[in-house]
Amino acid sequence: MEAKPLYSFRRLILPAIFVLGLFWVTWSRRPATTAYYGQAMGTTWSVQLADARQHNIQEEVQGQLNIVNALMSTYQPDSEISRFNRHDTTSFDLSTDTLKVINTALKVHESSLGAFDITVGPVVNAWGFGFPPSLKTPTEKELTALQQYIGSTHLSIAQNTLQKNTANTQIDLSAIAKGYAVDKVSLHLQSLGYENFLVEVGGELYAQGQKDKQSWLVGIEQPTKEQGVIQLVLPLENKALATSGDYRNYKERDGKRYSHTIDPRTLRPIEHNVASISVIADTVMEADAWATALNVAGEEEAFRLAEEYDLAIYMLLREQDGQFRSRSNAAFAELLQQGE
Ligand code: ADP
Ligand code: MG
Repeated sequence: MEAKPLYSFRRLILPAIFVLGLFWVTWSRRPATTAYYGQAMGTTWSVQLADARQHNIQEEVQGQLNIVNALMSTYQPDSEISRFNRHDTTSFDLSTDTLKVINTALKVHESSLGAFDITVGPVVNAWGFGFPPSLKTPTEKELTALQQYIGSTHLSIAQNTLQKNTANTQIDLSAIAKGYAVDKVSLHLQSLGYENFLVEVGGELYAQGQKDKQSWLVGIEQPTKEQGVIQLVLPLENKALATSGDYRNYKERDGKRYSHTIDPRTLRPIEHNVASISVIADTVMEADAWATALNVAGEEEAFRLAEEYDLAIYMLLREQDGQFRSRSNAAFAELLQQGE
């Protein structure tokens, strides 16, 4: 008679392999969310990845953001934009990335009836919001002198080149480049096959797919100096969200608040009661630019433009008594309901 092996392959080892296999499958399919953090473009970034299979994306995300910064920063003297700002009135070759951003900027400029304008930089600096920051107030004469260089109509695009018709016209992409950077990282993650992630740079974000089989939940902050107090939680799936407001970046002099957002039509900091405006769109680049545009436009005009250009918006308005009043449009209400 043949001796039976102590551990029968069929009775013990095979079931053991089966059970271990089952463990492995359940474990590897578990919706693990990994968070990555870093700094870029003068602010912080974060990415949450919720796909089952993942690899470490820290360096890749940082790399993508560094590319955008090296092209569009006005703080780096050798960036593409800084070189264009020093360039004369002959045509200037642009990278595909910068071309996309400037094209969108010019579109939003036109649609917002001039409220969004990437040539407003010299006026931003004149009000002391450039680098180094200061408390200065420009004189009427200084503003009139700058007037002749301000206006996106000084810029024209032909194929992949950009041209200005006055050498002193300058470009400042601060109100749109962060949004574009989020789009670029999102596209990169998509190209790697990822389907569920949340990418954020300086508060502007894109939510793709889901987390734990539900839409991503993102917070809209209260427009106060303290960071991270949540006013509203919004479910977001395959959508971009950007917020613009005067609640963090402003200066106070003689009890008056000066916003770092300038109305290009008056060359003065905006002064109305919009504390913050959040815009939901398909790309973060558009949401970012529109948030600044609608902040300049003010309450009534912002709601009119949102209808015309199909944007979901949520606004917090500063009341006389220091309280906030919220107002949103139907497109925004619909997004909120989808999460219920
Ligand atoms: P916010 O979160 O308030 O939108 P951003 O950093 O996105 O802040 O944009 C504000 C910056 O955009 C300003 O610091 C300035 O450089 C630039 N900017 C100010 N006014 C305008 C405008 N009307 N159009 C385009 N860019 C502007
Ligand atoms: Mg903005």
